[in-house]
Amino acid sequence: MVRIGVLGLQGAIQEHVRSIETTGAETVVIKRTDQLADIDGLVIPGGESTTMRRLIDKYDFFEALRHFGEQGYPIFGTCAGLILLAKEIEGQDQAHLELMDMTVERNAFGRQRESFEATLAIQGVADDFEAVFIRAPYITQVGSDVEILATYQDKIVAAQQGHYLCSAFHPELTDDDRLAAYFVDMVKNIKGIKQ
Ligand code: GLN
Repeated sequence: MVRIGVLGLQGAIQEHVRSIETTGAETVVIKRTDQLADIDGLVIPGGESTTMRRLIDKYDFFEALRHFGEQGYPIFGTCAGLILLAKEIEGQDQAHLELMDMTVERNAFGRQRESFEATLAIQGVADDFEAVFIRAPYITQVGSDVEILATYQDKIVAAQQGHYLCSAFHPELTDDDRLAAYFVDMVKNIKGIKQ
């Protein structure tokens, strides 16, 4: 059994808890840095990345989250979580955790399309994934270690770099838990290797 944390500072927290639990994994809402010691993988939910960053700093999570990732523990960032993982953000001098070698653009689908749904093919996950986008970012550039898992209108909307996974959309907002299951499998595999 693996135990997955959902960063509990802001955003779609309970939705991720529900989604992860349908895969049979245990979940913990992470509100203090010492809780990171008890989990095998972490979800950083969607919400608002600048607000989440403010709370990360306020509750001293910044170095703890970077250390968690650098130790090889899997992290899955969705929407604002994807922005937090990126090494660079278009138009901003400073990025956040800088754990994934990619550049992202915030609110990238424009105001006319603040939220929408689209059917995506996600490599290794599904050919028909109903994805919910809400003021979503997309990935404008990736380094050579980053695998592109899904695109929408030629924009990169899901990617993986080793033990890091991210999506520009919100997989936790539908009943399709196949991307959550993919992440739980990543966590199981890595936990198996670590032991
Ligand atoms: N646009 C938000 C941001 O920049 C992300 C939106 C979301 O997580 N649904 O943080």
